Amino acid sequence: MSKRFIHRTQNFQIPNETNAYRVEKIEMPTELFGKNVFSLNTMRAVLPNQIYRNMKAVIEEGAALDAATADVVAASMKDWAMSNGATHYTHWFHPLTGLTAEKHLAFLAPLGEGGVISEFSGKDLLRGEPDASSFPSGGLRSTFEARGYTGWDPTSNAFLLEGLNGKTLCIPSFFIGWGGQALDKKTPLLRSSEALSKQAIRILRLFGNTTAKKVTAYLGCEQEYFLIDRKYYLQRPDLVAVGRTLFGAKPPKGQELEDHYFGSIKERVLAYMQDLERELYKLGIPVNTRHNEVAPMQFEIAPIFETLNTAVDHNMIMMSIMKTVAHRHGFECLLHEKPFARINGSGKHNNWSIIDNEGTNLVDPGSTPQENAQFLVFLAAVMRAIHLYGDILRVTVASAANDHRLGANEAPPAIISIYLGEKLTQVVRYLAEGTPIQKKSEGFIDIGVSMLPPLPAHDSDRNRTSPFAFTGNKFEFRAVGSSQSCATPMMVLNTIVAESLGYIADILEEEVRQQKPFNQAVKELVSKLFRDHSLILFDGDNYSQSWHEEAVRRGLPNLRNTFEAAPALVTEKAKQLFTKHKVLSEIELESRFHIKLEKFIKNLNIETEMTLQIGRTNIIPAGIAYQQRLSDSIRSAATYVPESSITEQKALLQKVSRLINDLILKLNTLDEFNQEAKSHREDLLKCAEIYQTKVRPAMEEVRGIADELELYVDEDLWQLPKYHEMLFHV
Ligand code: ADP
Ligand code: MG
Repeated sequence: MSKRFIHRTQNFQIPNETNAYRVEKIEMPTELFGKNVFSLNTMRAVLPNQIYRNMKAVIEEGAALDAATADVVAASMKDWAMSNGATHYTHWFHPLTGLTAEKHLAFLAPLGEGGVISEFSGKDLLRGEPDASSFPSGGLRSTFEARGYTGWDPTSNAFLLEGLNGKTLCIPSFFIGWGGQALDKKTPLLRSSEALSKQAIRILRLFGNTTAKKVTAYLGCEQEYFLIDRKYYLQRPDLVAVGRTLFGAKPPKGQELEDHYFGSIKERVLAYMQDLERELYKLGIPVNTRHNEVAPMQFEIAPIFETLNTAVDHNMIMMSIMKTVAHRHGFECLLHEKPFARINGSGKHNNWSIIDNEGTNLVDPGSTPQENAQFLVFLAAVMRAIHLYGDILRVTVASAANDHRLGANEAPPAIISIYLGEKLTQVVRYLAEGTPIQKKSEGFIDIGVSMLPPLPAHDSDRNRTSPFAFTGNKFEFRAVGSSQSCATPMMVLNTIVAESLGYIADILEEEVRQQKPFNQAVKELVSKLFRDHSLILFDGDNYSQSWHEEAVRRGLPNLRNTFEAAPALVTEKAKQLFTKHKVLSEIELESRFHIKLEKFIKNLNIETEMTLQIGRTNIIPAGIAYQQRLSDSIRSAATYVPESSITEQKALLQKVSRLINDLILKLNTLDEFNQEAKSHREDLLKCAEIYQTKVRPAMEEVRGIADELELYVDEDLWQLPKYHEMLFHV
């Protein structure tokens, strides 16, 4: 074992397969599930019957919540929470940081004579007032009018968060300014769900459905993550500060052997997963899948899909629990989109479908002619939405971190297109252009109506390179980054599909009014939409250069990074879209644009300063120490051995010296570019442009040299844990 390794690990116990962390008592999921959730189930047990029914109507049908009900619910919720060990409560919300926020308040209030009582009224439940001045608002609210308030979102269950020494009641909430401006991610998400429901119901009514009351989007998200031993994490200031390694030579063995994907799960990792799953079950999060992912020490966890609002909240809770539980196991859980260069990054596939309150999935082809025709309308709406508004969907997943993934050969490209699978594509082509369907008999459901073609039976998706794939009864948006909240991408997806459904409903309602036969109207409109929007379909290899060229010919935007993508938020088209459906006002939209750029700039500034710091105080000193060692050795060797024996050693010294010199130069250039970018702080777009076009390439150059130096410097002098240690020492 090298001296360096011993030095590095001496303060840590090295957890290994045999001392993997064990939970004290193994309980079955059935005992645990939902234990810490104030769900409808819990409510049925603790609330008076009428109040329970009121709450059910609020949650399931969007009925209004009255103050009397809120009071009774608050009292029961408090009793339930306290009897389960909670001492505090908090409105738990999603500010525009992209994280969640909480401010805890004790249930206890002192009485005059030295006693205490517990307090929590309907008013306390419905509204909290955190000082909002320090959350990003993108100009929505300047600090002198700092107050915003949080309000209970009864459609997402309250839950108990367990700390080591007590529990906290968390009340999922929206967060808005006094003028009603959305200061968070949940408010627009809820508004977009309403818009989607409203427009989808219009379509259902056209198809003769008079009973469905509400349509709800569902989400199942597959979450990728890395685990590394925490002792290494704490010795990587870059991982601690920015979540990714800014330096690190490629290890001799990376992921090229493809031996990790679906491989057997190591004991210590499995112990973590099992512990994590139990914590998530308690919170009513129905996690289902676990497996090794492509990169070494990369894994995936996926819950069973739930209503969108709940799934978004659950994913946020899950990400935070993943990190907490990792610490118990001596791991750090990395959710960054690209923790390691030249190793696959992590994403979060968002599986989205829309289902009415009678349980019909509207993006499932179904089995009757009518269901099939209706499905084609929804399909056409999605195609139109993605074709016309793909740039807006794209910007929702843009971030400094996700820029490293999108467009590299491991994740969907920045070009947004749709993959439908071979059979469904044939149906679309048939309706659009009359192209005959081949192999009708095989795997097609013949619906026996001459107006519409047969629809394929569930077609499994074999194109993993597509950013937006139809997978049988849902669409899968794969460009979302692993650390991102699903709220904004799903908010946009809801809104753009609502817009298309509204567009279709406008036309069909008018044609019905003019007595056009409905079937014919549907067929003509669907055919036209398929024709107009078939350019958005692509079933080839999304990673290939030829697709990039083809996309240009098709006029599909290729917004390669956050700087290029951000302006899509503030186009006239975007403003009209969001204001029309009352999802975001113009000023709310602009605030999102500002925050997007602000965050990009701040992240890159932190990365740059961290690069400078590590480069100058860690890597160069290591290089210089090695240079010193080499030159000392050469000097003394020269007194004993002939010159010809040390020529290569001199060459090595020269190589090392040159790398150190170049590194110093490149670091200085990086520093200058960063200062230049900062001097444009008043003009966000200009500033972001400099970060993208100058700072980022300069950072890459620094890294290139430092990573080369790593391959020469004496192992014992190199301070930073190396890739092969972080990725392979479990
Ligand atoms: P794969 O890796 O093949 O995409 P997974 O099983 O890992 O499949 O993940 C699929 C995700 O899609 C799961 O979260 C699953 O619950 C979810 N899902 C399945 N059906 C639907 C649906 N109708 N709407 C939304 N999500 C769905
Ligand atoms: Mg998937």
